[in-house]
Formats: sequence, structure tokens, C-alpha cells
Amino acid sequence: MFQKILIANRGEIALRVLRAAKELGIQTVAVHSTADAEAMHVRLADESVCIGPPASRDSYLNIHQIVAACEVTGADAIHPGYGFLSENAKFAEILAAHNITFIGPSAEHIRLMGDKIEAKRTAKRLGIPVVPGSEGAVREDRAAKKIAAEIGYPVLIKASAGGGGRGMKVARSEADLSEALSTARSEAGAAFGDDAVYIEKYLQKPRHIEVQVMGDGAGKAIHLGERDCSLQRRHQKVWEEAHSPALNAEERTRIGTIVSNAIADLGYSGAGTVEFLYENGEFYFIEMNTRLQVEHPVTEAITGIDLVHEQIRVASGGGLSATQDDVRFFGHAIECRINAEDPRTFVPSPGTITHFHTPGGLGVRVDSGVYTGYRIPPYYDSLIGKLIVHGRNRVECMMRLRRALDEFVVDGIKSTLPLFQELVGNVDVANGDYDIHWLENYLADHAADHK
Ligand code: ADP
Repeated sequence: MFQKILIANRGEIALRVLRAAKELGIQTVAVHSTADAEAMHVRLADESVCIGPPASRDSYLNIHQIVAACEVTGADAIHPGYGFLSENAKFAEILAAHNITFIGPSAEHIRLMGDKIEAKRTAKRLGIPVVPGSEGAVREDRAAKKIAAEIGYPVLIKASAGGGGRGMKVARSEADLSEALSTARSEAGAAFGDDAVYIEKYLQKPRHIEVQVMGDGAGKAIHLGERDCSLQRRHQKVWEEAHSPALNAEERTRIGTIVSNAIADLGYSGAGTVEFLYENGEFYFIEMNTRLQVEHPVTEAITGIDLVHEQIRVASGGGLSATQDDVRFFGHAIECRINAEDPRTFVPSPGTITHFHTPGGLGVRVDSGVYTGYRIPPYYDSLIGKLIVHGRNRVECMMRLRRALDEFVVDGIKSTLPLFQELVGNVDVANGDYDIHWLENYLADHAADHK
């Protein structure tokens, strides 16, 4: 087991990892920018190192400084959290060269899944269902037209290096295709320095369903069920739940088994999420994230398995603590991502939190790095906390969520709490009846109510 882990992240996820390390009796090192000197992860860690000025590229993305912090403190492993360096294959390689363990998959697997065309090809080879579309990159308009005609319009043009929904364009008919291709190529080139694009069938009303997996790196893997993350705004997840209200036990086992077998075949190590769109009873692979996800707590709630403990165990060579047969699902869990943003315009609202009170009681978990008097710096993402609620079934979970939201107080800044208070009372949400466009449509329809 490791003696000391450096956490190359900030905010709630840095605290999340720190807690898991403490439980395992491992020393922790926090790193922070000058803007985060007062942050909770810095206060709670055994040691901390300032790694640079506020801008992420100079601090949380500064590989040189992070490796130096490891060497100064004698940390033998790094947990990257999510975002920042968590899916940076080069970072994993540099750590290996310095004899520091990267708590995550191999650089090779990060690279493979980071290239969407390669990831899709690999998924298909491993027996995972994919969205119908081009085999690889599409370079010429003529070839694009042929493929689009075969799969049928509308089609979606996606960037191979894509992320965050950038470089994606829908073409509704052949007349739109050339323009959509050239816009997607130039957006992708500008954003990622790689203008390779590919074509997929555009699904009209899918749900976003993702499967959580853990591999031991030696050919064994388990799945921990799925999460439904269909409630999104601009491709950003807002509300996540486990299980999906749309799946039955047979579908869950079927897709879970396909994915865990594929991950085992790959020799994958650590936590991963295989993301699908789900429509009319069919799953379509869209991408794999080779890291811990923001929404991992809903899976922890329904399985009782601490995913960060598992990541640390696997990275230290201790294998997985559970077999597939040990994984049991219990009840229902929902997570709300509470952001420091205006609940209607979503404009960030940094500043000082004058009062912060979190709900408690049975089945309520809050993962947050903020506190009363904390000043939210304007440099990073606007997530201030995640409220995760668990109940014996979805109805109980929703009742508890409504109560927990009522108790939650965030004063001094704007937050998205009021949006969740609305959603928890909505009939479609109560019925679990939504697709990936539902929230955008809801916000557009209700924009006038809040003028
Ligand atoms: P990124 O890595 O840029 O986030 P993804 O491939 O994960 O890209 O897709 C992001 C979102 O775009 C999905 O959650 C979904 O809302 C939408 N999307 C992706 N592929 C399709 C598709 N073939 N049809 C319809 N919507 C899609």
C-alpha cells in the first residue's frame, strides 16, 4: 500500500480523495494555487504545497511543479481527481518515469480512449454496441455524403479529439452537410489542434446512460450498474441518478456484462465509465472516460462500494475488493450538482459565501469544499457542492431530496439550488420521463416565468 498520496486537484474532489486516503491510513499531500491557500482541501491535508499562480495552466495543469511537489514531500502516488490532468496520457508517462504511481489506467488506455475514433473502433471490436456511422475519419465531402445517405439524416459530425461538446454539428439534410463538415473541422482544429471528424447517426430523443466499471489491470473487471445523466444543459450534466428510471434488471445486466467483459479483455486498470446513448431499447456507445466521474457517489450509494478505495487498492497492486457476485444494488440515489451560478442565466457568481448550511439525516450526503466565509475564486469551475440522496426506492429518494433541498442554505452568492427545487416538483422528473433535451426545453419554456 502507498505511504503518501499527492492529490493533484482542488475543490470537492480533492476532499473526496483525501477522505478515502485517510480511511486507508495513507498520508495526504494537497497542492494548491495562490488563489486556493484558504481552501478546505489544503486545511485538511497532512501537508500542502503551493504550486503556482491562480491560472490552471500555471498550477493545477503544471506537470513540472506537481512532480516537484511529489519529490519534495516524498509522495509515492498521485490521484488526479477528474478534469485537469486526469486524462492526460503524457502526465501518466512522466510519473512512471519518476517512479510515482498514477492512480488511474495506463497511459496507453488513456490515449486510446482519448481519441474518439480509436475508442469507437475499439469498443466495436470488443463487442460494445456503437452508433451507426463512418468507419474512422471522413476527409472528403463525397465520402461523407455517401455515408450520410446510408445511415439516413439527420447525422452528427463529431471531432475525433472532441470534448465538452465542441466540434459537433448536426446536418439535417444533404444540403446542410458540406457546411456542417467544414464548421466542425474548423472548430475542432481551433479547439484541439486536430481537425479529424467522423459521422454518426443523430439520435433524436435518447437518454444518456453510462456504466461504471472497475478493472484490476490483470484481466478481471466488474460493473457497478449504470447512471442516468440525461438531465443536461449544454452537454453538462446537472442531475444524475442510479439506477436509470428507464432500464429494467435484464437490460442492466446485459449492458453491464458486455461492458465488464470488454474492459476485462482490454486489461484495463482502475475506474472507468462507458457512456451510451439509449433509445428505443438500444444502447449506442459514445465514449469512455478513463477516470473517476463527478457523479460517482450515486453508484457508491446504491452499491456501498467506495470507488476511490478501489482505485487506490488497484493502483497499489492489491486488486479489487469485490467480485461481480459481491456487487448488490440497494435502493435509488440522485445527485444534484450545485453550482455558484444564477439559476436561470447560469452566469457564474463568484464571491464570498456568507452562510453555508448543509442538510443531514438518513440517506443524505454532501460533498463540498466550501464553508461559511469562503470566497469562491473566479478562476475555476463553478461547482460548490454535490447533494447526494439515497432512499429504498425512487419515490422515497425524491421525498428525501425535496426535504434536503429545503434545508440547504447558500447565502451571499447565487446558486443553482432553486433550479433543483423546481425540478424535484416537476411531473416529468417525478416520473423519470425525460431525454437529453428535456432540461434545455424546460428552461426555454420557463424563461419567461422568471423575467
Ligand atoms: P463530448 O466528449 O464532446 O462531451 P460526447 O460524445 O460525450 O462528446 O457527446 C456529448 C453529448 O452530445 C452527448 O451526451 C449527447 O447529448 C450528444 N450526442 C453525442 N452523440 C450523439 C448522437 N449520435 N446523437 C445525438 N446526440 C449525440
